Amino acid sequence: MKIIPKAEIISRLNKIYDHIPSFECKHCQQCSNPIMWFKAEQININDYLQKHHLCFRTLSEEEFQQNQMKCPYLQNNRCAIYQVRPIVCRLQGVIPELTCPFNETVLLSKEQYHLIVSEFNLLNRDICGIEEYFGTRKEICKQVVLKTQKLIKPVPF
Ligand code: SF4
Repeated sequence: MKIIPKAEIISRLNKIYDHIPSFECKHCQQCSNPIMWFKAEQININDYLQKHHLCFRTLSEEEFQQNQMKCPYLQNNRCAIYQVRPIVCRLQGVIPELTCPFNETVLLSKEQYHLIVSEFNLLNRDICGIEEYFGTRKEICKQVVLKTQKLIKPVPF
């Protein structure tokens, strides 16, 4: 197996993210729930956390309830890892499956979305991470895995 350097993984990931349009976030926090991400994103997030002297944050189910189901990366109503936020956060408001009350215009076409997801899965497959899950909930539950998998469908190889 070819070892892909961290810088190359991050560069490929950023190129994928570049294809996802962004719109002005109103920081309403309505989309903040337990979220899940994949190996390439974990590498990217870890790199950012280390460089910015931040801690990796996960909550148990109970802690999530106490935190009113808000993401542990929310600080003063802002995402502390916004620059490296995972694909599920980036897709919020730009695909029909992840709606945003402040952006009713779907910005990605089905074709663009499928292309992004294919590239994303290819990257995670290249680093043997297609079945590795990380996220804001300590114990990533089946429900979150299934919901995310439905959005980021693994491509058949
Ligand atoms: S990681 Fe950031 S963008 Fe994603 S849900 Fe948490 S606070 Fe929001």
